[in-house]
Amino acid sequence: MNENLPPCPTCSGVYTYEMGALLVCPECGHEWQAGGEAAAEAEGGAKVIKDAVGNVLADGDTVTVVKTLKVKGSPSGIKAGTKVRNIRLVDGVDGHDIDCKVDGFGAMQLKSSVVKKV
Ligand SMILES: [Zn+2]
Repeated sequence: MNENLPPCPTCSGVYTYEMGALLVCPECGHEWQAGGEAAAEAEGGAKVIKDAVGNVLADGDTVTVVKTLKVKGSPSGIKAGTKVRNIRLVDGVDGHDIDCKVDGFGAMQLKSSVVKKV
C-alpha cells in the first residue's frame, strides 16, 4: 500500500489502493479519480489564482497592471500598463493575492483581478 494515497472521501478509510487511474476504497467500495478535487481538498485546497482575463498565474510570472491603482502617498499611483516582474502568489488579506515589487514603489501586494499576465 502506498502511504501517500489519500483516505477515502466517503468513509475516511485508509486502505485506499490504486486501480488504473482510479483510487479504490476496499472498505466501502467507493472509487474516485486520483488527483481530483477530493485530493486537492485533502491537501488544504491548492488555490488557483487567475488574472483579469482568466489566465492562471504562477510564482515568477510577469504581469502588467490593467488599471491605474491608487497608492497611499503617491500622487499618480501605479499607472495602467505598468510591468511587474517576478510576482509571488500569496494568501493575502482582502483579496490581495499577489506579492510583488513595483518599480518606483517598492514591495506591495496587488489583487490578481487588476493584472494581466504578459
Ligand atoms: Zn470508503
